[in-house]
Amino acid sequence: MPTISDASHRSGIADHIFCPQSEREIQEIIIEMVESDTPLTVVGGKTGLAGACSPMYGGIAMEMSKMLFVEGRERYTTHNVTDSETGTNFQYLIDQKTNTGIFPPGITLEEMDRALETHNLFFASKPGYMKGQLGGAVATNASGPRTFSYGATRDAVLGLHICLPNGDLARLKRGEHSIENGSFSIGEFEIQAPMYDLPIEKNMCGFYSSPDMDLIDLFIGSEGVLGVVTEIEVQLYERKETETQMIFFSSEKDLKICGFALSELRLDLSNIRNGGIFSLEYIDPVALGLVEDLLIKNGITDKNLCALEIEYWTDDGTTKVKIETLCEAYNALPTKLSGQAVMQMRYTIPQRVNGIMAERGMIKVASDFSVPDEHFPQMIEHYIFATRQMQLVNDGDGPAAALWGHFGNSHLHWNAMPDSQSAFETAQEIYIDLAQKAIDLGGTVTAEHGTGKKKIGDQLMLEMLSPEMFEYAKYLINELNPRFLLNRGNMIGYKK
Ligand SMILES: Cc1cc2nc3c(=O)[nH]c(=O)nc-3n(C[C@H](O)[C@H](O)[C@H](O)COP(=O)(O)OP(=O)(O)OC[C@H]3O[C@@H](n4cnc5c(N)ncnc54)[C@H](O)[C@@H]3O)c2cc1C
Repeated sequence: MPTISDASHRSGIADHIFCPQSEREIQEIIIEMVESDTPLTVVGGKTGLAGACSPMYGGIAMEMSKMLFVEGRERYTTHNVTDSETGTNFQYLIDQKTNTGIFPPGITLEEMDRALETHNLFFASKPGYMKGQLGGAVATNASGPRTFSYGATRDAVLGLHICLPNGDLARLKRGEHSIENGSFSIGEFEIQAPMYDLPIEKNMCGFYSSPDMDLIDLFIGSEGVLGVVTEIEVQLYERKETETQMIFFSSEKDLKICGFALSELRLDLSNIRNGGIFSLEYIDPVALGLVEDLLIKNGITDKNLCALEIEYWTDDGTTKVKIETLCEAYNALPTKLSGQAVMQMRYTIPQRVNGIMAERGMIKVASDFSVPDEHFPQMIEHYIFATRQMQLVNDGDGPAAALWGHFGNSHLHWNAMPDSQSAFETAQEIYIDLAQKAIDLGGTVTAEHGTGKKKIGDQLMLEMLSPEMFEYAKYLINELNPRFLLNRGNMIGYKK
């Protein structure tokens, strides 16, 4: 029987894997799921970091990689392409007048990006790893470096086709399904709208909630528990030449001060979509040490540095001046790198952490917290302290913890790398403590990876963040997915 796992290495076994090629086939599989009372897990590109596509409760799996075609329609031109690198043949629609496109769920984000290059357009949600599928990006509301300026996947989604857990097909268009008398209607269902405040805008814990939300927002980031995404309409943007500067600081102390300066810089860039910085990322000295060979290849030989990566439009002179001023003020060293070199570094760091942990025969403990911008410098202090604690509890002198991620969204990933069972237990305690600190500062415990099937110390992330959100999630799943057959265990866990 096939074992399925994602990038978090949480795995599950499915009795059988289906690979549907059309909405009709998906509907048939779902009807079969209901009639035979069999759990069904939807599998995208398996790049998720929360075990959400792993069939940990058994049953059958549905791989989406053959969902590659969309039906043509008025206003749109239909494009049939074969990807130059993967050889995948797929179809999509573009309306060049409005810069919108309709895509199938099974293409990967890198295939989509290569296709869009021919139209001089891009899809702004660009996670650190582009081998995930578009359907997976919708289900996890994927975000990435450019979220700083363009928002997450949610901000780009204009329409969705969804096969609901009862087999019905819903065609949703943003703007056509707003809240009426505190509820949404969808097919035969009348469901209450969520009424809680989100801790923070960048949040992947629980269902989205906002007074002016659209029904479509409940499905985006729902980890597949409300239905299968079968078609996606998105807003695209005109492609322009970009530049990336890495700014190296001699110590974390400088960077802490710099945190304040950058908060001001962020506020300053109010018209950010038309100019200015669109991604602002951080890498700490330990993480940079893990990619020393790549740094040397790019002419960077200094050690004990931490770095900010700033991506901006090449024609944006104002940002260049701001970067120069920042570097002078903090005695920092700017280095221009190619977009490809930066992507390679972003991707290699987590891979090398995983490699070290595999060698040690241990599991890393990784965070995904984000906090309001005004509390970010404080959170950085907590991370630095947490890293020192890990250095003390690890037996060896190899890397004990590394920190990197989305500085622009006050959202860093702290990765503890324990080298013994007792260090692993301490890492979990530190994680819980950091999570509580992020919550106390008004932040979230998962900003982009989602809850999936993650559990730390038997405490569900969602419960930890907000009991109200957790209750709503239980209510909604029970309404639309009553026996929790579809994507069982995601978001709220599952007990018989
Ligand atoms: C090195 C690395 C860097 C990463 N960087 C980022 C980052 O910067 N930002 C970020 O947000 N994430 C990041 N991720 C996580 C991951 O890339 C995203 O979560 C991605 O969106 C998952 O897509 P996938 O197709 O691989 O989904 P999977 O992992 O296969 O599945 C994820 C969830 O989506 C559901 N799903 C998949 N397709 C559908 C569908 N068509 N309909 C309904 N449900 C579906 C699955 O059932 C599951 O619940 C990173 C991962 C790695 C390994």
